[in-house]
Amino acid sequence: MTMELHSVPVRKIAGVGVKKAGELLAMGVSNVGQLLEYYPFRYEDYTPQDPAHLEDGMRHAILGTVYSEPSMYRYGAGRARLSCRLVANPLLFTAVWFNQTYLQEQLRVGRKVLLVGKWEASRRLLTVTETVFPDAQGASELKLQPVYPLSGNITQRWLRKTIRQALEQYGDQVKEVLPEPLRAQNRFLSRKQSVHAIHLPEGEQESQKARESLVYEELFLFQLKLQSFRSLSRKQQDGLSQTIATEEIRKLIGRLPYRLTEGQRESLKQILRDMRDPSCMNRLLQGDVGSGKTVVAGISLFATVRAGFQGALMAPTELLAEQHQRSLETILEDSSIRIELLTGSLTDRKRKDVLSSLQVGEIDIVVGTHALIQDDVYFHKLGLVVIDEQHRFGVRQRAQLRNKGMNPDILTMTATPIPRTLAITAFGDIDISTIRELPAGRKPIKTYAVKHDMLERVLKFIHKETRAGRQAYVICPLIEESQKLDVQNAEQLYRDLAGKFPDLNVGLLHGRMDAEDKHRVMSDFAANRLQVLVSTTVIEVGVDVPNATLMVVYDADRFGLSQMHQLRGRVGRGPHQSFCILIADPKNAVGEERLKAMTVTNDGFEIANLDLAIRGPGEFFGAKQSGIPPFRLADLTRDYRLLEQARDDAAKLLASPEFWTEAVYLPLRELLRQDQSGEREPLN
Ligand code: ADP
Ligand code: MG
Repeated sequence: MTMELHSVPVRKIAGVGVKKAGELLAMGVSNVGQLLEYYPFRYEDYTPQDPAHLEDGMRHAILGTVYSEPSMYRYGAGRARLSCRLVANPLLFTAVWFNQTYLQEQLRVGRKVLLVGKWEASRRLLTVTETVFPDAQGASELKLQPVYPLSGNITQRWLRKTIRQALEQYGDQVKEVLPEPLRAQNRFLSRKQSVHAIHLPEGEQESQKARESLVYEELFLFQLKLQSFRSLSRKQQDGLSQTIATEEIRKLIGRLPYRLTEGQRESLKQILRDMRDPSCMNRLLQGDVGSGKTVVAGISLFATVRAGFQGALMAPTELLAEQHQRSLETILEDSSIRIELLTGSLTDRKRKDVLSSLQVGEIDIVVGTHALIQDDVYFHKLGLVVIDEQHRFGVRQRAQLRNKGMNPDILTMTATPIPRTLAITAFGDIDISTIRELPAGRKPIKTYAVKHDMLERVLKFIHKETRAGRQAYVICPLIEESQKLDVQNAEQLYRDLAGKFPDLNVGLLHGRMDAEDKHRVMSDFAANRLQVLVSTTVIEVGVDVPNATLMVVYDADRFGLSQMHQLRGRVGRGPHQSFCILIADPKNAVGEERLKAMTVTNDGFEIANLDLAIRGPGEFFGAKQSGIPPFRLADLTRDYRLLEQARDDAAKLLASPEFWTEAVYLPLRELLRQDQSGEREPLN
């Protein structure tokens, strides 16, 4: 947010060359400002462990002294194993490193070194992942080491060093964002202090204080933006008054292969009433995974078309957009409504074709991804915008789609249950419809939490289900730090399972595949040409294959509760009994409880509450909660109090004449202006 640092290229930092700058760019970091705002998502505790209390198989930090000359063993091309004996009184142990030959000369006898790695008790062996020499300058005294999300060839070690270097060169130039009165009144750290401390905290307390200050800043700017957008759109003319073709809608509902649930009917009634109403609809439809939100959206889109308008449905992924298109085709069969898909992977010709038909009004409903909000997309007469999994989109993206029409009605949908007050605070002035029940006849999903040593039995079970004609998802462990490792994991698991099940067709799906391949795999799975689908969390939202009855999640303890619930929601969508198997060896009581929560309830609202209760407000270390708007640091459940504070502060500021006159607030107004005119990346 510091304008100056946002115009200093990362190349200015010592040690960042062309190649590294390119890799940073791939992580969305091109300037020093962005690098300093690349915050860690957790810390690793490097407090040395008492050598008497090392546990077999655990990760430990040991402070030792080099006892004998290291020895190197080379094997294969460019591979090397370095080993060395060290003492940590009274323990004499061996440390091994892989492919870090440069350490050989630094490991001089008598030198102190802090090692982090996995401890193997029987061989008194530490397989080292992190090496810190306490006498070297920099992070030597740091007990808490920041852990950053990574991608490409960037390593944790390199990024730590580079951010430390950036702080050294530019830390002094970090500028305040919050107006001083606000900062003082809330007793936050200065931005300079916060940015320094979040990367290099002296201790847990300081890191929390830094985080709190930066979270507030993030939420405050978000609220300021949200509220100023809202006051802008209120000034615009009124919304549409759509004529609802009640009789036709009744017939359409009658043709569905099932009866709508009470919640679906009630929500639909509220939506249609809002559409008829001349003011602009802004409604959130929330319902647990599998509660049938798509059909409600489909009927609403039908209504807008019959009222003489066009409809748009935006989804966060291409997979989901394609699936929605298919669902709408089925729901609106024989109504001669033209539905087209608009995603990033259309050919240029097809795209041009869709755009021009859309503009002249030949297309009734367009389903798409972010591609819908490109500048060159014009509608003839946009009446209703539906945004699925709305938390995946930013405020500005939602506004951009809305601005494609003259105040169209807006329906947003989410499966992440959020308390009403929280929703209102986070998303603005919004009405909420809720589908509480699942369609009748659904059997509750049976969920089991098992340890890794049960793997063979789990595999047998996959075999049994698929032989009975059903299908299974297998979700790989999540590697938050690195997308590359994520993919490697998935490929490995895929090969393993394909080898174990020679008689089944096993497929693989991950985020790095191109759209065409993803599409092919997904349609093969939907058509039961694949019985087992190994996947990363790309299938987390929305995917609907009713014949799939088994969801197996590896290393389930790495996922947040809501995320596990979303994943589980991929099964239990048809008439057959479905199962969810969570494989994990939880490391502590909280981990055990989280898994247990999953086995005792299928209700997303209950799970959200349990999550909050288990994690508690003070929780700092551990997995990041997902399924809420993509803030850099803030977590709307955990940081609810700060959110309320930020909301009130923003409202007060926007209402005060000083804000519009005093020079103190100029930087903030400038940020808002740039954000609204699209000159700057969205704040969130
Ligand atoms: P979500 O709310 O998670 O988006 P979907 O819209 O994907 O759920 O619906 C899940 C499944 O339930 C779909 O296969 C859909 O056809 C089916 N479905 C929707 N409504 C009903 C209903 N009232 N009765 C039976 N099945 C339904
Ligand atoms: Mg859905």
